[in-house]
Amino acid sequence: MESKNNTTQSTIRRDVRISGIGLHSGKEASITIKPALPNSGILFIRKDLENPIAIPALLEFVTQTRLATTLGRNQAHISTVEHLLSAFKLVGVDNAVVEVEGPEVPIMDGSAAPFCDALMEAGIYDLGVAKKVAVLKRRVEVHKGDKSAIVEPSRQFKINARIEWNHPAIGEQELTFVLGQSDIREISHARTFGFLKDVEALHRMGLACGGSLDNAVVMDEQKVLNPTGLRHTDEFVRHKVLDAIGDFALAPLAFLGDVTLVKAGHELHAELVQAIFSDPENYEIRTMDEVAAHKESAAYVLSPAWLAGTLQGIY
Ligand SMILES: [Zn+2]
Repeated sequence: MESKNNTTQSTIRRDVRISGIGLHSGKEASITIKPALPNSGILFIRKDLENPIAIPALLEFVTQTRLATTLGRNQAHISTVEHLLSAFKLVGVDNAVVEVEGPEVPIMDGSAAPFCDALMEAGIYDLGVAKKVAVLKRRVEVHKGDKSAIVEPSRQFKINARIEWNHPAIGEQELTFVLGQSDIREISHARTFGFLKDVEALHRMGLACGGSLDNAVVMDEQKVLNPTGLRHTDEFVRHKVLDAIGDFALAPLAFLGDVTLVKAGHELHAELVQAIFSDPENYEIRTMDEVAAHKESAAYVLSPAWLAGTLQGIY
């Protein structure tokens, strides 16, 4: 199924409940996703608290990114939101309320696939209201050592990610994903990954109690330890793209541009979003209809594929 980047805003057709294990607590964690009005974005609610607290899925509410992305407001926290946020983007849901019955979203299998399936099962509802996006006007980049995140003007949302890991199972991997063109399944099934020594250290500190081979690719010094192996040989870079889409979903507005990520992670993704939106000269706000109209006319005139097809038709 193609990932979605619609011109109008959408939500889901009906409530959908998802249960699993919490990565931090190791205990059961449940969420209920509900339809929402246009322009409300993704809103998390800590429903289990006596006075439920709403936390918008925005970068300014991110309290930490260690282990998993955590949102916080007024002492209330909701952890492990990144793969769910990525699923909303992939399936094309712009507005939803996520009621969380505890401090974390279930980790499921460590990928976004269970969330994508649940959202598609609930059905996508077109709200018929124009979707606005930030279209990059110039190149914006952030660097940290040999890591970088760069976005260049473009009329699509494309991510090219490269990773390099001195490990026999990983090595160098690269993947390009275009929202609205690429198939969801290229990245939705890719699981989070980690190393046995780190998992053991976390468990000793009483952290990541729910982390196991059921919800992560775990490696020792040489190999992958999961009995079923990898879902793709380049599952690692696929998950990096999945994470990046979830992190960019925390931007104040969806943006269009060609993003190149080299060895980047949550922190650098957040810095790129901050760099883009800290200067209004970096972008202009357009409706997706305006962007699509522009793209169509350009493609009509310039596309070599279109020309080739036309010529073939004539001769
Ligand atoms: Zn992840």
